[in-house]
Amino acid sequence: MLLEQLNSIYTIVVNLLGLMICLFMYVKRPTRSGIYALAYLMANLLSNYYWGIYVVIMNDYPNVSSILSYVGWNAAFLILALFSVSLYRMDKVKFFSPLCLIPIPLNIWQLCLYLQYGGYFNNFWQVSLSTFSVCVCLNNILRYFFRKNKVEGLRKPYIEFAVLYLLTMEYTSWTASCFTFPSDLLDPYLYASILSSLTFILMPLAIGKTFHIGLHRNDASRAKVHSFFISVYTVIVISSCGGGYLLALWMRNTLTAGIGKVGDADPYSVIAVMLFVVSIVINLFTLIIILFISSEQKTFESRRLLIEKKDAEKSNAAKSEFLANMSHEIRTPINAVLGMNEMILRESLEARDMLPSEREEIIKIFSDICNYSGNIESAGNNLLSIINDILDFSKIEAGKMELVESDYKLSSVLNDVSNMISFKAKSKGIEYIVDVDESLPDGLFGDEVRVRQIIINLLNNAVKYTQKGSVHLSVSEKKSDIDKTTTLVVSVKDTGIGIKKEDIDKIFNKFDRVDMQNNSTVEGTGLGLAITESLLKMMGGDIKVESEYGQGSTFTVSIPQIITSEEAIGNFREKFEKSISELKAPKEKFRADDARILIVDDTVMNLTVAKGLLKSTYINIDTAISGEEAIELTKANCYDMILMDQRMPNMDGVTAMHYIKDDGNNINSSTPVICLTADAVSGAREKYLSEGFEDYLTKPIDSSALINALLKYLPSNKIKPVEASSDKTVTSASKDAGGRGLDSQTDEDNDNILIHKNVGMEYCNNDEEFYNSLLQDYVNDSKERTPLLNNLYASKDWKNYCIHIHSLKSTSKMIGAMKLSSIAAKLEKASDKADEKAVTADHDKMLEIYSAVIDEITKTIEINADKQPENDDGIFEFYPEDI
Ligand code: ADP
Repeated sequence: MLLEQLNSIYTIVVNLLGLMICLFMYVKRPTRSGIYALAYLMANLLSNYYWGIYVVIMNDYPNVSSILSYVGWNAAFLILALFSVSLYRMDKVKFFSPLCLIPIPLNIWQLCLYLQYGGYFNNFWQVSLSTFSVCVCLNNILRYFFRKNKVEGLRKPYIEFAVLYLLTMEYTSWTASCFTFPSDLLDPYLYASILSSLTFILMPLAIGKTFHIGLHRNDASRAKVHSFFISVYTVIVISSCGGGYLLALWMRNTLTAGIGKVGDADPYSVIAVMLFVVSIVINLFTLIIILFISSEQKTFESRRLLIEKKDAEKSNAAKSEFLANMSHEIRTPINAVLGMNEMILRESLEARDMLPSEREEIIKIFSDICNYSGNIESAGNNLLSIINDILDFSKIEAGKMELVESDYKLSSVLNDVSNMISFKAKSKGIEYIVDVDESLPDGLFGDEVRVRQIIINLLNNAVKYTQKGSVHLSVSEKKSDIDKTTTLVVSVKDTGIGIKKEDIDKIFNKFDRVDMQNNSTVEGTGLGLAITESLLKMMGGDIKVESEYGQGSTFTVSIPQIITSEEAIGNFREKFEKSISELKAPKEKFRADDARILIVDDTVMNLTVAKGLLKSTYINIDTAISGEEAIELTKANCYDMILMDQRMPNMDGVTAMHYIKDDGNNINSSTPVICLTADAVSGAREKYLSEGFEDYLTKPIDSSALINALLKYLPSNKIKPVEASSDKTVTSASKDAGGRGLDSQTDEDNDNILIHKNVGMEYCNNDEEFYNSLLQDYVNDSKERTPLLNNLYASKDWKNYCIHIHSLKSTSKMIGAMKLSSIAAKLEKASDKADEKAVTADHDKMLEIYSAVIDEITKTIEINADKQPENDDGIFEFYPEDI
């Protein structure tokens, strides 16, 4: 009896301990399994409490306590069965093994043993539920072992093991209780019951292990709640248990004495009810904690969602930042590629045109290079516009697109877009017509860059989707009731492929392109109209489309703008046509030998490109690769203009420009500074102008824009039209020579020009001194070369003749003696084939020209004919490799 009493007390203590552990884990991290375990432990606590009363206080006297105990246990078994199902469903892997049914016969046997003691419902209930639980848990365990290699991260069945352990011990104790043993100490029931009570602790530990919830307080945010519950709960449990037990004893003694009848059921029932209250208090308190934690969990969740939202906003901001930087990072190399490509194109064209006509193969190679280069250019430009579209769209999506409004001239916008489109339309054989209402106000306030972008998008599409006919831009206004405001009505009409009725709504969807069977060769992203529509929405405008499939489309946009000056735009078409005819003049129509400019860019390749683009202007160029270096140079040299890259490491262009302009002592404080930037999409133009730059050029630098900037900002006395330049003959002759071939006997101009100075100068990087020294070496070299060639010719040593004539060809080309170089090339070919006849035909003529070249050089340049070259081969070291 004593052992049984001790066992009851031990069970209550372990049960309370388990409940506390489970509760504290739940406080730390609420889980569904935690709720099941808590419910199971609370139901058990009620039962164990009553069983304790029954065994300890009532001395095994039958009363209401024992019945309440069975109710609690039955509830506990139901909870355990539900818990097992929830465990089965927790892992989404379907599995069933017949092996899990093994416990069924065992349980039936156990049930048969027990039924002899009566309590059929109770027995059936307990046995069926526990059999069900044990089978489900066994199946979960088998699932883990059979599937763990196939399913990654399958949950380890710690909880199922705890349940299996509990039920095994329960079976053992129930079975043992059906047999009689010589003494309590030898009764397996006692040990199985002690061991089964351990599950009250094992179960919460298994949950902790499964969900990685430790008992230590490592969660700083919940540490306070945790400690509070631990202390309050411990006090309540201890005082309830201790107090309850004392209360029960006191009541038993009092009631027994008062009634005087030991063994009367009533007082015992009263005690049981009193104790029921105590145990209910514990469970109620547990429930309050669970509810509190669940609601706290909800607040915690919503707080977490709020934090996540803030994080998402932050990462969105970071994304936009990243995109803005990426725009620069991607565009810089593309700009460099495009710039270098333009140089390849120009120089290849130049080289090709300078080749004598018989070098057909090389001419063909150069033509091919020019074609490839042309393809790189168009692919590069396409890539650039795709990147711009994507960046713009990302900005719109991220809500980061902002309008940058300022004063602007409508005529300038229309002029720029018309220039661009008329060129594109012309190259496709499409007519471009522009009609602008003469009374439109020219001075407007709005986002010029975006207005330009909208019109260009529509015009580009019109040209893209039209094969023949015309593209018609008309601009008018819809007068507004509000003073000083107007709505521009821009309409773009084409005679292209048109859009099917059912497709019209789709064309404004991002990335949607329609009629792909007809448009498959037209490049596009499907973003242009989506961007246009969004920009218009931001501006308070709208877009309308009318289209007839196969006939053409008309896109009409309305853009509200503020009027800043009533001055009318006038006859735009006339002005535009005049500017177009002006444009037809050659781009590089001047030289500026006396002007000096500074180009600042941290990318050396960009400097090379800019220098290359300006090569034919003979302008003096200094370069700097940082803002700091630029400032130093501006202190020492006086420049006529500075081209300043905006984005540079350490010191950006804006800062460097301010250092120069704001320093009263700097000799360049009033020099025009032109901003170079790749940032063309974000409305940066106005920003840079307002910063103090005189002008703004976008990269890749357009050579005509650069030339126009030079014409605009260089002092006019330093700009010499090519016709008036001292090198007129050389330059024009060089062009002629390029176009028609040097040894064209019918070309009198070419025949008369022995030396093209500009060609030689270009080989010498426009270094006059270097060029003069080359000429000097050339003359010195001729003293030996002429007799040498004569000797080799006389002895018919064609092999060596070929070698020396090859070197004459190269050195002559280097100094710009193109005619001599050309005839030497002919002789080289002939001597290489030992074609005596061909060599004889030209040898004397070559000597004649050679001597004329030497005469020309000695006449025009002061040469110390007697000066010995420091190195006999000096001049050969530099000759162009490709010759
Ligand atoms: P993209 O031209 O880059 O494909 P857009 O957003 O500018 O993208 O246009 C979406 C689609 O609308 C195009 O793919 C094309 O099918 C159609 N579209 C746009 N403009 C015209 C037009 N002027 N004529 C015919 N179809 C057009």
